[in-house]
Amino acid sequence: MNPLAFFVIFAVVLAGMEAFAWATHRYVMHGWGWGWHASHHAPREGMFERNDLYAVVFAVPAIALFWIGVNRWSPALPMGLGVTAYGLIYLIFHDGLVHRRFPFLKSPKSGYLKRLVQAHRIHHAVHAKDGCVSFGFLYAPPVRVLKAKLRQGA
Ligand SMILES: [Zn+2]
Ligand SMILES: [Zn+2]
Repeated sequence: MNPLAFFVIFAVVLAGMEAFAWATHRYVMHGWGWGWHASHHAPREGMFERNDLYAVVFAVPAIALFWIGVNRWSPALPMGLGVTAYGLIYLIFHDGLVHRRFPFLKSPKSGYLKRLVQAHRIHHAVHAKDGCVSFGFLYAPPVRVLKAKLRQGA
């Protein structure tokens, strides 16, 4: 496969995953999937939370894309890599940095990463299925915008 096409597909899928993650978080996790996600809006007891099962579920299409990419249709390979890259970014920054599951990561003091952490903390300001704001992750709106939305009741 042409390396440029490979990279473009990878980048488009990686960016598209943010939209997919937003929609899934907004309509599945805070919808019919709340049964698993509620654990993520409550203090964690022990190493894992029921919400971690979503990571297991999302690994299935990524593995399927790898298999298809290697055996049947090559464009599926950069797609699988894009999905996996988003998953890794989410693991490191969402679980590691924001939720302190990797204690060696330091809280950012300024810039985009600080805004990303704040935007997600605002998502966790509400401990219920309804009334939350800030469902995306990598696209982090300014805190004042999110706070205003939160005051309006989302
Ligand atoms: Zn949530
Ligand atoms: Zn979170």
